[in-house]
Amino acid sequence: MYAQVAVARPVGGPFSYSVPAWMAGELAVGHVVLVPFGRRGSETGYVVGFTKDPGFDPAKIKAVERLLDPVPGFDERQLRFFRWVADYYMASLGMVIQTALPSQIRARTLNVLQPTPEGADALVSGDGEPRHLQVLREVTSRPGLTRKGYARRLSEELEKADVNKALDAIARRGWAEWIDKELKETRATITTVKLLVPEHEVQEVVPRMGARMKALVASIAAAPGPVDVRELVAEQGSSARSSLQRLVEAGVLELEDREDRDALADAPALGASVPPQLNDDQLNALTALTAPDAKGAFLLYGVTGSGKTEVFLGAARHALDAGRQVLVLVPEIGLTPQLVGRFKARFGELVAVLHSGLTGSQRLAEWRRIRAGEAQVAVGARSALFAPFHRLGLVVVDEEHDDSYKQDDGVRYHARDLAVVMGREHECPVVLASATPSLESWHNATQGRYGLLRLPKRATPRAVPIVERIDMTDLERGADGQRPLFHPDCEQALRDTFTNGGQAIVLYNRRGYATMVECTSCGGTYECPSCGIAMTLHRRAGTVACHYCGFKRPASDTCPSCGSQSMEELGKGTERIEEELNRLFPEVPSARMDADTTAVRGSHHRILSAFRRGETQLLTGTQIVAKGHDFPNVRTVVVVSADHGLRMPDFRAAERTYSLLVQMAGRAGRGDVPGRVMVQTWIDDHYVLDHLDDVSAFMEIELRQRELLRYPPWRRLCLIRVDGVDRREVTSQADEVAQGLTGLAKKFPGVEVMGPSPAALARLVGRWRWQIILRGGDLRAFRAFLHAARPHLEKAGRKGVRVGWDVDPRSLM
Ligand code: ADP
Ligand code: ZN
Ligand code: ZN
Repeated sequence: MYAQVAVARPVGGPFSYSVPAWMAGELAVGHVVLVPFGRRGSETGYVVGFTKDPGFDPAKIKAVERLLDPVPGFDERQLRFFRWVADYYMASLGMVIQTALPSQIRARTLNVLQPTPEGADALVSGDGEPRHLQVLREVTSRPGLTRKGYARRLSEELEKADVNKALDAIARRGWAEWIDKELKETRATITTVKLLVPEHEVQEVVPRMGARMKALVASIAAAPGPVDVRELVAEQGSSARSSLQRLVEAGVLELEDREDRDALADAPALGASVPPQLNDDQLNALTALTAPDAKGAFLLYGVTGSGKTEVFLGAARHALDAGRQVLVLVPEIGLTPQLVGRFKARFGELVAVLHSGLTGSQRLAEWRRIRAGEAQVAVGARSALFAPFHRLGLVVVDEEHDDSYKQDDGVRYHARDLAVVMGREHECPVVLASATPSLESWHNATQGRYGLLRLPKRATPRAVPIVERIDMTDLERGADGQRPLFHPDCEQALRDTFTNGGQAIVLYNRRGYATMVECTSCGGTYECPSCGIAMTLHRRAGTVACHYCGFKRPASDTCPSCGSQSMEELGKGTERIEEELNRLFPEVPSARMDADTTAVRGSHHRILSAFRRGETQLLTGTQIVAKGHDFPNVRTVVVVSADHGLRMPDFRAAERTYSLLVQMAGRAGRGDVPGRVMVQTWIDDHYVLDHLDDVSAFMEIELRQRELLRYPPWRRLCLIRVDGVDRREVTSQADEVAQGLTGLAKKFPGVEVMGPSPAALARLVGRWRWQIILRGGDLRAFRAFLHAARPHLEKAGRKGVRVGWDVDPRSLM
């Protein structure tokens, strides 16, 4: 017998391997193995079956090298699911399994490359061999990969030998450096660092601080508690280590070793361990979910604070009593502490937590607990979908509208959609819950494909607050010629809230200090050298950064083009908003929550806990502050502006802005005091702003728009992306692919091929991007078309041009 092995590569397969004698009888479906692959290398593989007929000359067959984990990583039922996923998203089976399994299952130490500040300078000056710069760009946008990793990413445009030569040259010139990354995080302690003096006094102790050192201090000062040194180094480059050492010696910083525990694993159990008396709406929903024949998908549409969580908890109890397991998906780590706490209060040790903040070894441990049946309930983000359950009795997708359920690279799966498939597989009910359902789920529910369960009222004493629209257009400019950031009414509402001991949240959905800095003499700006897009100023970190590729460099007050020193800051971000709030309310303790302040593991949790305990009274941030939190003392919510969200050139812009605003409004007035929600806007008329208090009215209008424009949920989409460094080559191949697909589409009624056209972000990380949109009405015909198109797509792409696809894309940018 030969083993059929799917390899973790975007190639076909599975491939046949012989089984060495010592492994025979032991090797089974689900085993993770190491197999020879390619000319010299080895690759991780997954045993997906056995065959007598290898399909080619048995003399040429190679043998399985090694078993990486004695316990199989998946069973037949999971394998069936993986095959479904591979087929639907047109991915290789090996890639799907790799996505599904914890990476630690194939852990080892890796030698990886990290870019240095000199590398950033080199990219800006463009001074170097084009091929070296091309590789350096890849290293900057995807730091921390191995030699093999870069060779693979660049495989379509460069020979492996050339990539290797370029990597060596880059390292030699000091543009990047090799470091050892320990993948198997077995260490029981981590080293943290904290500031011993206030940030503004550091300068006195260490008078000659360079920009790097300042950035380091700023980053430590910005964190709400001690910072993991490893993460600092990962974020700031390994030169941070020597800076750290100097600052420790100067007595400014202190290092400390502590046990590596997961902040959430010992999240306190929250709330009562006995369920409250459910109200009638909750009971109706629970009855539907626990009926003996309950299966299929349900949309649980309940306003913010209506007690949806209590419904999940009740249904989960029912499933556990029936001897079955429970999977609860949540969008993001920011949301998890509270929900985890509530599940822990109810189910104790039966709960496993799987979220992106776990170290690899913690994740593996939780995953094994599920596999062994010790944990019966898993709460986790997107990838928890693949946890090794044997017999599910309930699947919950909380905040089902959230875009973070979609994986945006590799296998681009949508966890909410797959949860529904999973429910079919296990013949159990799947609950999709939200106060602002996605158009897809709303449509499915109103058309009768999903059950519809409603919780129209809050479970707490106060109703959902009415959203007040605050017109900013007639505000006078101040003495400095600037428009105020806050309307006087909003400022007053915040002031009242604070004087009465209440809390407030301020939302602005853009991070950084200013969206760009522009020279007043020549109009020059800091542009990302790889994307050609204006870089955002991050004042605290002292950098300008590209929000698309992550490229960063020290900020300076001289113009990059003419050297003039009159740079003007344009546009604003959360950092600027926070500064203004601190000026208006200096005595109010506040915190900011956005991707910058939460880059360090555990910081989400710390910021939210401090707010929950009332140590901070004001929380400012991007969309993460809008998500699911239940803070009874929040009385006022101010949205600085939602206008740029509405103006995004994307067919989901209205839906996204709508759900952001309604979710944000839902954070206010959850306690005994009624809440107030104020949305500042310069737009005088928009249907999103007109229907913030009536979800179904908005849904109806938006559904009609989508129908007219032939977008989902009425149609199916698949986005084909063609990208590469050479613009002409990209254009010509995009044309070729589109022509091929157009010809093919003629045989499939109702299928359209649109494009090629340049993407809205026409160049990213030095690559030109074109796209083709495939659209179909009837699911079956569209699937058949994609099936026929797949071999063409897999063959396309040469001379450095990549062709990738995204089935059911969330965005067309
Ligand atoms: P949702 O998930 O719909 O936003 P939650 O489940 O977080 O709502 O409930 C909001 C608040 O109402 C929580 O503080 C919760 O403890 C409380 N709550 C939920 N159901 C009930 C009930 N039946 N009786 C009293 N309080 C409830
Ligand atoms: Zn960029
Ligand atoms: Zn200039």
